Amino acid sequence: MPLQAVRPKILGFISEQASAWLVALVVLLAGCALTAIVAWAAADLYQQQVRQRFQLLVNERYTRLQERFEDQEQRLNSLRRFFVNSDDVSREEFDGFAEPLLLRARAYSWAPRVSRGQRSQFEQHESDQRGTPFVIRELNSAGQLVPAAERDEYIPVLYSQTQSLLGTPLGFDLLAQPLRRSALERARLTGKPAVSQPMQLVGLEPAYATGVLLVAPVSHAPTAGQPQSEPYGYVMAVISMRQLVAEGLPKPDRDNLVMQLVDTSDVQKRVLFESGTVASDRDLVGARRLSLGDHVYALDLRPSQVFDQANHSSLSTILTMGGLLSLLLSALLYVLVSQRQRALKLVEQRTVQLRMREQELRGAHGQLRSVLNAATQVAIIATDLRGVINTFNAGAERMLGFKAEQVVGAHTLESLHLASELEARSTSLSVALGKRIPASQAMLVESPDNLHEAREWSLIRQDGSQLTVNMLATVLLDDHGLWIGHLAIYLDITEQKRAYEALAARDRLLKKLSAHVPGGIFQFTLEPRDNWKFIYASDGMRDIYEIDPGLLQQDAKKVFERIHPLDAERVRASIRLSALQLSHWREEYRVLLPQRGLRWIRGEATPEELPAGGTLWHGYVSDISDLKRVEEELRALSITDSLTGIHNRRYFQDRLKIEMVRLNRTSGALSVIMLDIDHFKRINDRHGHAVGDGVLQELCKRISQRLRRTDVFCRLGGEEFMVLCPQTDGAQAYILAMELWSSLRNAPMETVGIVTASFGVASRRVDEGVDGLLLRADSAVYVAKQAGRDRVETCGSGLARDGGISTN
Ligand code: GH3
Ligand code: MG
Ligand code: MG
Repeated sequence: MPLQAVRPKILGFISEQASAWLVALVVLLAGCALTAIVAWAAADLYQQQVRQRFQLLVNERYTRLQERFEDQEQRLNSLRRFFVNSDDVSREEFDGFAEPLLLRARAYSWAPRVSRGQRSQFEQHESDQRGTPFVIRELNSAGQLVPAAERDEYIPVLYSQTQSLLGTPLGFDLLAQPLRRSALERARLTGKPAVSQPMQLVGLEPAYATGVLLVAPVSHAPTAGQPQSEPYGYVMAVISMRQLVAEGLPKPDRDNLVMQLVDTSDVQKRVLFESGTVASDRDLVGARRLSLGDHVYALDLRPSQVFDQANHSSLSTILTMGGLLSLLLSALLYVLVSQRQRALKLVEQRTVQLRMREQELRGAHGQLRSVLNAATQVAIIATDLRGVINTFNAGAERMLGFKAEQVVGAHTLESLHLASELEARSTSLSVALGKRIPASQAMLVESPDNLHEAREWSLIRQDGSQLTVNMLATVLLDDHGLWIGHLAIYLDITEQKRAYEALAARDRLLKKLSAHVPGGIFQFTLEPRDNWKFIYASDGMRDIYEIDPGLLQQDAKKVFERIHPLDAERVRASIRLSALQLSHWREEYRVLLPQRGLRWIRGEATPEELPAGGTLWHGYVSDISDLKRVEEELRALSITDSLTGIHNRRYFQDRLKIEMVRLNRTSGALSVIMLDIDHFKRINDRHGHAVGDGVLQELCKRISQRLRRTDVFCRLGGEEFMVLCPQTDGAQAYILAMELWSSLRNAPMETVGIVTASFGVASRRVDEGVDGLLLRADSAVYVAKQAGRDRVETCGSGLARDGGISTN
């Protein structure tokens, strides 16, 4: 089934083929459009709400102000009624009544009508009443109160209850001012309260000075049959528009509304009151009419900036939130779509990979099977957990004689093994592991001290014969690491064993041979990096070096710890030379052994070049200490005079040559003393040859006792002797010769009596050879003989006689 067929669509409607970017873009655009619609609707709603709120505020404000206006009128009416219903109102009564009324009006006053004729009497009467002069006054052009001019009628302020700190302009004639007069006139005509045009009120603080005067005529109460009579005075409220309108309302910085109040009858359209609030830019206007007395006031209301702040639009928030939400949603969808697409792609890739793996696995399985069958020299047998064989390769068939069909599913691994061997192994494993190991498992369980090592087993062929094999067993695990069986690999080692036994026999032979051969046999290599190594060292090597052969194989350099320090370098050099020239190595050297001390060893070996570089020697070493001793004895004999035991002529000649060579290198003296027994023939003749021999021995004894350690005493032959004196000049040699001469002649010898000899002394001259020196010594003896014997003669130059020194 194709993969696409089972794939659901993303979110149920987005095809998975659609580009994630496209989906995100579409969602973003849709989100933006939706946001715009919502914003538009919200803006519309907002405008409506703002308008409604504004209207509510306007109505509330208007109602409140209208109430205030009506309240003022009612208060004045009640004051008027108080006058109407009282016969006479004293100042105290007025104050008592008016004071509680004084709310949102600057003052309440009472002004009676006074005719021209009554003026003086009135003023007098009031002056008397008050105790201070009372004059009807008016404002002059400078704005000061001055006694009023003569007029037909006056309406002076008589009583006044005020909130003003400036006091009451008592006596102020209201008729003196046209605006006030006009209001009074209207009140008188209508009999109802009348309001003045906006004016600057007298006796008030400048802040409250703009206002109106609300006047009401006071007439006597109408009686039956008598209509309303002319008013005899007026009550009035001095109203400061500021106080009336603004007091008790929110402060300008908190007021939602901007108010403006204009008297509609004022042709100049002067603004009676305007709140200090800053107006907003909105085109909202609330226009209302307020009536006070006979005047109508236009109340113009607009929203303030405070209103704006309290009713700000949520449009930007909606737009921002909508935009953000759209963005988030589109991002989410992008992630969702792209991730799903990625996941699907991954699934596709994995599926392809899995198919490939499956194919590979099939191939590998086939290969494995081919390998199993191709491995004809190795038996590969796999079992399930019960030990029942499920794989039996061609090698196993060949090795054991069974056919795979015979054993697979029918035989166990145990049945192929020798039962006694399994039992023995089972017992030993049980002991080692501390738990019972059944015989059927014995070949599969590894002992703790022998992990992953092939073991030898005996298998039983189909024909009943046995064969020896090496077996390696491993656990078979499935993909989840679960144990599913065992794999056993068997290698027929019958041939190998045979070869091994043959090898072991040869080894034994070699060991025996080497044990019977004097000395040690070895194989030694010198590898390129100056690596000295014994490949083989027979037991005889132990006797030679007093080192265990095993240790020698580990570290060949131990040999050099035994070799005499004076010989070690020579031995090394000869080995290297042998390696270099591939020449036979033969060396004799000393070893210093812990037990046997100094011994002489002779080593011989034949080198061959190793293919990988380096040299291999096959050789032997033997102890030649005895041989060396014999050699030494022979050598000593060869240079010793057998009769006298002193050195012979050969030794003398060798030593003289050596001394001459040394003198040629370094400067120094060398002398020889030659002596010849006088008339020795006679001794022989008289006493026999044996006595003669005894004389020779006695002479040697005496001379030897006198000589220095460095002197070399030799018998040249017959009865002639020579003393070699290194580092000795002629004079010293002569003295020595004299001593020898006297030692001889001063004591008689047994049987023969005094024996004398003739001495000749010669010292080596510069550039003189051996022959020259000996000739001169011989000449000196000759001279001594000629001179009568028994004396010492010295030879100065050539054959010339040195006559200066003589004993006789
Ligand atoms: P001169 O004073 O002139 O040296 O006389 P001489 O007799 O000592 O000298 P001559 O050369 O005539 O004789 C040497 C003798 O020494 C001859 C020989 O028989 C004897 N002679 C040589 N060798 C030996 C020896 O080994 N043993 C003995 N007993 N005699 C020897
Ligand atoms: Mg002689
Ligand atoms: Mg002689």
